[in-house]
Amino acid sequence: MRRLRRAKIVATLGPASSNAEMIGKLFAAGADVFRINMSHTSQDRMRELIAMIRGVEKETDRPIGILCDLQGPKLRLGTIKDGSITVKTGDIVVLDSNPEIGGTDRIYLPHPEILAAVQPGHTLLIDDGKVRLTVTEVAPSRVTTQVVVGGKLSDRKGVSVPDSTIPVSALAAKDISDLEAALEAGVDWVALSFVQRPEDVAEAKKLTRGRALLMAKIEKPQAVTRLAEILEIADALMVARGDLGVEMPLEKVPGVQKLMTRMARAAGKPVVVATQMLESMISSPVPTRAEVSDVATAIFEGADAVMLSAESAAGQFPIEAVGTMNRIAEEIESENLFRSIIDAQRSKPEPTGADAIADAARHIADTLDLAAVICWTSSGSTALRVARERPRPPVVALSPNMATGRRLSVAWGVHCVVTEDAHDQDDMVDRACRIAFKEGFAKSGQRVIVVAGVPLGTPGATNMLRIAYVGAGDAGD
Ligand code: PEP
Repeated sequence: MRRLRRAKIVATLGPASSNAEMIGKLFAAGADVFRINMSHTSQDRMRELIAMIRGVEKETDRPIGILCDLQGPKLRLGTIKDGSITVKTGDIVVLDSNPEIGGTDRIYLPHPEILAAVQPGHTLLIDDGKVRLTVTEVAPSRVTTQVVVGGKLSDRKGVSVPDSTIPVSALAAKDISDLEAALEAGVDWVALSFVQRPEDVAEAKKLTRGRALLMAKIEKPQAVTRLAEILEIADALMVARGDLGVEMPLEKVPGVQKLMTRMARAAGKPVVVATQMLESMISSPVPTRAEVSDVATAIFEGADAVMLSAESAAGQFPIEAVGTMNRIAEEIESENLFRSIIDAQRSKPEPTGADAIADAARHIADTLDLAAVICWTSSGSTALRVARERPRPPVVALSPNMATGRRLSVAWGVHCVVTEDAHDQDDMVDRACRIAFKEGFAKSGQRVIVVAGVPLGTPGATNMLRIAYVGAGDAGD
């Protein structure tokens, strides 16, 4: 089973997609990675979902990625008398550290870090930006604000602070517990929410200790200003456009998406474009023209993956949503313009053996019109360096490690086959040709290029490149 596109699809699971049959159908429709959102999923349910995904993986004999998305520190208002108050533009709202129930005169804000960090002129956003306050005065344990956009302030609603870096970790106690449970259950990727600083990613890395890869969700302006440092530590990025669009002007989000995609591509790390991609498909079997164009933009930029949230988790048409993304990606990637745009955004290879080989493999594949670039990869790093080149033919990664196959499921253009390590160089080339034939990437008489590091299993030793013919004998098994 092979996909006919290079960009990958991440589908979030939820009430509309939480049984094994549905997960199987989503996979058949094109989902490469399943996302479990811990904001809405218990640890028991997460384990059940993982077991179902692994069941589909067994049936289809294809590695499937699981992305566990941690909730992150959610900053909230305290409780309010009768559940809510309504405020209008120009009203004064006082937030303080007094835990007593709030009202029109003042409201409890159970986060001393926010009270200490904000300055006059800063914005506070309540309930995903539905209510907007500007800080007018600060005093110890208390801030006075003026309402800029009015609305309802309800008990425990979320508070965002876009203008200052708040000294809270990206891992709350719930996240640490969820993270341990997810690692024990064998997830492949962990998404870290509300990252503000590179230190947040470093802290999570200390806990994961290589048991899963880390995707930094970029959803705060503070993180955008430190993107390069965050990307250096994280294994992948997510353009989390939902919260990003709350915390910064909406019209800035497309520029951030382009910047992030280019930076991640240059670093050779996967980047996922997320949120509201096919939002109308929550309740409609067809998307809007604008949504199709949005998905197409991410594909043209060479993003590794596009993501569905509520469309697949809670919508009425999860399978259609995945199928729609699949069709858009296939169509866009077959456009004449696609190649020139992808090529124009390619960064120079870094001065390493792996990049030199990956760059050469792409050139050779182009010159000789080869059917596939096949790489032997233990940790997946060679496959990611080859994918970084965004070569014209598909990339087939051969790895002895199931974890590598699953992790690569999010990477652009990579089809991973888990197979035992080759014994020697001849076996490496023979098996590469046989697998390329069997998996439908090369026909008899076509040529492929094989990339590897010898001796095998030495991480970072990508140093071999062979052009090989796929012969009639490769149909053997
Ligand atoms: C987002 O904000 O775009 C996002 C992906 O995060 P979440 O769905 O967890 O809010």
